[in-house]
Formats: sequence, C-alpha cells, structure tokens
Amino acid sequence: MIIGAGVGGLCLAQGLVRAGIDVRIYERESGVNSRYQGFRIGIGGAGLDALRECLPQRLHAVLDASTGEISGERRIVDEQLNLVTQLEPGYGGMATDRHVLRHLLLAGLTDRISFGKAFTAYEELADGTVRATFADGSTATGDLLVGADGVGSPVRRQLLPDAEIVDVPGSGVLGRTELTERFAALVPGFGTIVKGPGVTMLLGKMAFRRPPHLAAADLAPEVVLPRTTSYLRWSMSLPAGATPADWTVAHEQVCDLVEGWHPDLVELVRQADATNSSPLTIRYAKPVAHWGTRTVTLLGDAVHVMPPSSGKGANTAFRDAALLCRRLIEVDRGAERLLPAVQAYELAMLDHGFAAVADSVASLSTFATR
Ligand SMILES: Cc1cc2nc3c(=O)[nH]c(=O)nc-3n(C[C@H](O)[C@H](O)[C@H](O)COP(=O)(O)OP(=O)(O)OC[C@H]3O[C@@H](n4cnc5c(N)ncnc54)[C@H](O)[C@@H]3O)c2cc1C
Repeated sequence: MIIGAGVGGLCLAQGLVRAGIDVRIYERESGVNSRYQGFRIGIGGAGLDALRECLPQRLHAVLDASTGEISGERRIVDEQLNLVTQLEPGYGGMATDRHVLRHLLLAGLTDRISFGKAFTAYEELADGTVRATFADGSTATGDLLVGADGVGSPVRRQLLPDAEIVDVPGSGVLGRTELTERFAALVPGFGTIVKGPGVTMLLGKMAFRRPPHLAAADLAPEVVLPRTTSYLRWSMSLPAGATPADWTVAHEQVCDLVEGWHPDLVELVRQADATNSSPLTIRYAKPVAHWGTRTVTLLGDAVHVMPPSSGKGANTAFRDAALLCRRLIEVDRGAERLLPAVQAYELAMLDHGFAAVADSVASLSTFATR
C-alpha cells in the first residue's frame, strides 16, 4: 500500500507494477486535477536514472517529448540584468512540469489508485500485515505500508512522532508567467539568479519540447496528458515579515519590490498567471536516526523534505522509489525476506536523503534575501 500519489509514490507504483507486484495507492485529493501544482521540476543524474528504471519502457519516449531541456550556464545578474557572476553549469537533465509528470506517472494505474482517501492512522496486526484507516472510516490491509504522503505526512507523524520539520524564517513567492521570446531571453541556460536590492529572484524556464497532450496522443494514445503551455517559473524570497495570506497580497508585494527594475522583469512579474502562482513556505527535515524496521516505511518528502534551492527533492524521491522497488522485487522472487529488505532500503535512503537535505540547506543562501 502506498499512501500519497505524488511523484515519489507514483514512481514506486510504476516500478512495482512493471515487476508484476500487487500495489494499491491511496490519495487524499479527489483527483489528479483537484489542486493545480504545475511548477517546474528539474530532474537529472541518479534521479533521472531512477525515474527511467521505474517507468515502463513504452512511456520513455513520452517522458522525453513532454519535458524540456535543462542544462548549461547559471548566472547571477543584478536587477537591471547586468551580469554579476557566471556560476558552474547546473546538472544536465530535463525540466519537467509536476502536473504533467503526475499525469504521466498515473498511466496504467487507474484501477490501482483510490482518490479521496485521506489516511489517518495505521495498525500493525498480529499476522504481520498492516491496516490503514482513512478519514471516511474505510480501511485497507497489506504486507507493507509506504508513507509517500509529503511534508505533512501523517504516516511519519505516527511512525516518528519526534521527527522535526523546520520552517525557514521569512517567506517566498512562486510565480509562473507564460513563456514569450522576451522572457525566454532572461534564462539562456540552466537558470538565472537576480540579486536585486534586498531581494533575490530565481528564474527557470519550462519550455516543453512538444505540447504534452500532443506528444502523448502521438506516442502513447492511451496516456492523457494535460494541455499546458511553456512558462517561465520564478520565485522570490520576501524580506522578513508575515507570509502573505494569498496570491493577491503576495503579487502586490512583489510588484512593489520590483519597481524600477529592468522592464522585462517588471513585466514578467506583472503578467504572472494568478491560478498557477502562490505564496511559498520553505521547510526542511532534521536528520532522523534509523528506527526499528517494521511493516511501515517512508519515502520522499515524507521523510526528508528539503528546500528547493538545489533542485533535489523529487530526484531524491525517485532514488528512494527505485531503491525500494529493487528490494521488493527480491522479496517477491523469494531471494530476500521483507523486513531485512525494507531495512536495507531505509539505511540507504536515510543516507542519500539527508545528504541531499544538507546540501539543499547549504545552498539556501542563493535563495535568501541579500
Ligand atoms: C518551488 C519548488 C521547486 C522545486 N523544484 C525541484 C526541482 O527542480 N528538482 C527536484 O528534484 N525537486 C524539486 N522540488 C521538490 C519536489 O517538488 C518534491 O521533493 C517532490 O514533489 C516530493 O514528492 P513526494 O511524492 O515525496 O511528495 P508530494 O509530491 O508532496 O506528494 C505527496 C502526496 O501525498 C498526498 N497526501 C498527503 N497527505 C495524505 C493523506 N493523509 N492521505 C493520502 N494522501 C496524502 C498529497 O496530496 C500528495 O499527492 C521543488 C519543490 C518546490 C516547492
């Protein structure tokens, strides 16, 4: 049983189904479109390898076609777009849109996923299985429960009640503006950091190689991807103060902050798409020691949420998924017992997961107010 149909939980489900292992996914939201979450996620290196490992071969071409390029120079400019510093290139990989990727990861899983199922608690049963209870009073039982339920994870709260999630002081804003030639020029490579007076803005391009819905219709007609256009994703740290209550307040604040900046940046902020932009809270998990392995485990942001500053959260969730999948395949073919397999996964996952958290926390200064 997987709790949470985010990118990590769905990646694990794809890998298990690919290996012929029975799996069910329980998601709190009423459907994949119930809350728009279309922000850009850069995937590369071991994270991309892990995603490909879990995704069935027939979907690889759709993944390639429905994503964009992410590579090349990273640079710091001032608020008038004068070059300040050229940084090391970012990792070479692909820019994905979380909303599109979730649709792709749902391909072939519709009869295995239950939406509108908010997990509330688990109980380990005497016969070695585990029972999950949902807010609607229903229950489900399985051999292993994987909490892939994100930063607020109720599975983690029960399994590791002392685990701490830190809210980074200050707040941010996540904006999305449709990509035009004018805005594309702001990000010639991997990404651009704008260091303005007292405030920092990060820019990243989500330029789909092909419109995702057309790529799917052409390459795998059974897969339905959403209609969406290319965009420039920008985020900004706000000077210390209260987190804006909603996008209208946040947008006014950001418009004030960029007054007098280069006209392209002012226009970028002004033209933000209100339905896909929001205030942003940055959180990270404090390291946790390995717990006694049981029939309940954790994956992705549920255990090692990290700031988006290094672009590693989803990459790490995919690594978790591929690692756990490999272990469960061994269990399925009788080569390993369940609990030692889960323990081996947890030890490796905690290792690479919290290394990524530390790295992301260290690079938070690129995002923070100057
Ligand atoms: C602005 C921003 C930019 C980012 N950029 C990058 C990037 O470039 N590269 C990168 O690798 N990462 C990036 N990340 C991080 C990445 O988005 C996350 O690490 C990743 O989405 C985590 O996936 P997950 O499946 O663990 O959790 P989530 O995606 O949070 O999914 C959790 C799921 O569990 C469900 N759920 C929650 N509670 C319950 C419940 N009680 N019962 C049932 N279901 C429940 C939720 O509805 C959700 O669907 C970025 C994050 C942000 C905010």
